[in-house]
Amino acid sequence: MGLDAGTYAPVPSDLIRSVPKVLLHDHLDGGMRPTTIVELAAESGYADLPTTDPEALGRWFVDAAGSGSLELYLETFAHTVGVTQTEAALRRVARECAEDLAADHVVYAEVRFAPELHTEGGLTEHQVVEAVLAGFAEGEQAARAGGHPIRIGLLLTSIRTASHSRRIAELTVEFRDRGVVGFDIAGAEKGFPPTRHLDAFEYLRRENAHFTIHAGEAFGLPSIWEAIQWCGADRLGHGVRIVDDIEVTPEGKVQLGRLAAYVRDRRIPLEMCPSSNVQTGAAESIERHPIGLLKQLGFRVTVNTDNRLMSGTSMSREMELLSDAFGYGLDDLRWLTVNAMKSSFIPFDERLALINDTIKPGYASARAELAERIGGRD
Ligand SMILES: [Zn+2]
Repeated sequence: MGLDAGTYAPVPSDLIRSVPKVLLHDHLDGGMRPTTIVELAAESGYADLPTTDPEALGRWFVDAAGSGSLELYLETFAHTVGVTQTEAALRRVARECAEDLAADHVVYAEVRFAPELHTEGGLTEHQVVEAVLAGFAEGEQAARAGGHPIRIGLLLTSIRTASHSRRIAELTVEFRDRGVVGFDIAGAEKGFPPTRHLDAFEYLRRENAHFTIHAGEAFGLPSIWEAIQWCGADRLGHGVRIVDDIEVTPEGKVQLGRLAAYVRDRRIPLEMCPSSNVQTGAAESIERHPIGLLKQLGFRVTVNTDNRLMSGTSMSREMELLSDAFGYGLDDLRWLTVNAMKSSFIPFDERLALINDTIKPGYASARAELAERIGGRD
């Protein structure tokens, strides 16, 4: 009897890197290359960077973001947003984002950013969105030429502490046939409940448009409840605090509250971002991250990067951390990947094609490779 290549853990790093991955929660302004930030700052005369040494800057971002509070975490974005106020800069960071994700074998990604934060240099929000879409198109083309095709869908984010959400929702609908696949609200959660933006969400629903809401990260169940029951969110950004509505007795008996049961019954996708949650204090550690319990209970869990720069991470790294902490094998990673693909905002037939033509064959060949290495069975 040989080992099972589907459940063998931890999965070797090179195999994790090679399997097709799907990413639903990644911020454009949280995933820039340190060298690019330094160069863009020099070009634009932005003088506020803490250092102009790319390596030191990369470390600074991770340290500053790891301070333990969401409010401080958000401060790091002043720099990435500060250097992306021109069409050329936006186009460059979008292109590099597509290339970096493709190099990590992400085959489908939904990347988000807030157009309202990039108009300080005089661009209109339309020009901002067009520049980012052009950058993604260039990046997709380069990735295809390099043999690692990727498709990117753009989500337009509105800042929850501001009041532009209706306008950004309209921009989402206007651009929906040109690469924008959905809408989101982000920013400090406490004191800024999703219902503040009800007008935007009701508009999107009337337009048959998709949206996700950052909820249940820094703040608890009321935020999740509003996002789903008042606003009608298709997905939850993070949603980790849903565990507050789940009781596990010392004997291991599990009792779901009504909200947690609703989220599970309705298969509402949770965009979980383990490293980011540990950094902001939304989870104690990777080992104690609620994703372990939620996956075990069959919630529609997905794995995401949130901010690759601030967390010093990638999709491969997040999967590796989970494989180490929870013993996830290739079958688990495939389940998480298929969950993400099913939960994306592109049309059903296109999701299905990616699952059947790319994700399943990719995992099958990784399984065969692993079976050979461990002398097990595929
Ligand atoms: Zn986020």
